[in-house]
Amino acid sequence: MRRTRTLAGIGIATVALLALTACNSGSPSSPGGDTGDGGDAGEDSTWFEVASDVSLEGSPTFDKMQEADKVTIGVKEDQPGLGYLDVTTGERTGFDVDIARWIAASLGFDEDKIEFKPIASANREQAIINGDVDYYVGTYSINDKRKELIDFAGPYFVTGQGLLVAADTPEAEKLEDFNGKTVCSATGSTPIQNIKANFPEIKTQEYDLYSACVEDLLSGKVDAVTTDQAILIGYAAQYPDELKVTGGLFTEERYGVGLAKGDTALQEHINTLFTDGGDIWQAIFDKNLGSSGIEVEQPAVD
Ligand code: GLU
Repeated sequence: MRRTRTLAGIGIATVALLALTACNSGSPSSPGGDTGDGGDAGEDSTWFEVASDVSLEGSPTFDKMQEADKVTIGVKEDQPGLGYLDVTTGERTGFDVDIARWIAASLGFDEDKIEFKPIASANREQAIINGDVDYYVGTYSINDKRKELIDFAGPYFVTGQGLLVAADTPEAEKLEDFNGKTVCSATGSTPIQNIKANFPEIKTQEYDLYSACVEDLLSGKVDAVTTDQAILIGYAAQYPDELKVTGGLFTEERYGVGLAKGDTALQEHINTLFTDGGDIWQAIFDKNLGSSGIEVEQPAVD
């Protein structure tokens, strides 16, 4: 299990990435070079300085974390490159997971004080409302409907809805190319909502997890998987002979950190971390997605 390293006596203002070694020669199943097998850089590669004596006036979530002496973070664990659990080694990797670790370190929580909880797309708002997670980092698009129930910090990443198809499928240019065909996505996700609302001639198949859609695509039960292109690139890299990403970006998806509604102290803390931590953001991106072909800059927070 990857462990962060604690450096005692470092204040929050100096929270920084100590070292983040790019290890781009990772496993063949890895879109970003370090997914799934724990990397191969010898000395493990990610660690964040853990802040000490953090005080966050007026954050009920932070008070709860301190009382529990741990932070509970909602994540995905079947999305290589973004949020992935290697069930053999128990190691979690991915851009979102490292963003989650960075936030935890800034709040004073080392790796052994993090509990990661997998939460599917459809269940995110309720998990945050229930207090099942202290925050959520997992390809979570900021939108007004969700903002009625929860708050977001960020954005920290921007992508858009894309298409994943069998490698021998003709290139698609638009979603309408799949009229009359079956497209799979996750329940409660923005891409499935977009298809249902705006593309009535496309048939849909839904699952809790995108990995179930990918299984159906590999076995020919569906014609395409649709979700954010950054997610699809990870699956295409897992099955380079069988699958490919086709078409462009059909929407704009801005990823935020899901937070309990009204916890502006935590929201401001994370937004400041993102704003001041451009080098760290870049290092996290390079490590996890640097060799994926995704070209994106860190967005400004809202
Ligand atoms: N970003 C989209 C969403 O938040 C799709 C990815 C996901 O389901 O996590 O709905």
